[in-house]
Amino acid sequence: MDEFIKLLDENLDYVEHEIIDNTIYIEVISNRKEIYCKYCNTPSTKVHSYYNRSFQDLPIQGKKVKININNRKMFCTNPDCEKKTFAETFDFLVYKAKKTNRLEKQIINISMNVSSLAAEQILKDSIVNVGKSTICNLLKKGDANYK
Ligand SMILES: [Zn+2]
Repeated sequence: MDEFIKLLDENLDYVEHEIIDNTIYIEVISNRKEIYCKYCNTPSTKVHSYYNRSFQDLPIQGKKVKININNRKMFCTNPDCEKKTFAETFDFLVYKAKKTNRLEKQIINISMNVSSLAAEQILKDSIVNVGKSTICNLLKKGDANYK
């Protein structure tokens, strides 16, 4: 399972997983030793706090995937920085997003050639539970980002 997680991001380590019905719940942690402040780019190793963050990713073996990470909030050690703390972020996930970028792309690809109602059905079977309105929003976003 660690290899699947490393495909998403090499900075993640697999901790454990549980399969409930048709969903795999995976717990991961970040293995970065230092994290760069997103405001001033100074590296920090000082942890401020942890909080749970979960998001959905591409299916594995036909099962939906939900990933949970104990996300770190760090102190910025640069006295000149505009912020005292910052959260660790990842390239595969937009800040505060609930779905990985590659899952959003997959939803857009599937939804492009069918009605949003049909897309909802196809996605619900084995990829992700997603409503019609989310599909429409992603398609609009997709028009802007991927064309
Ligand atoms: Zn900073």
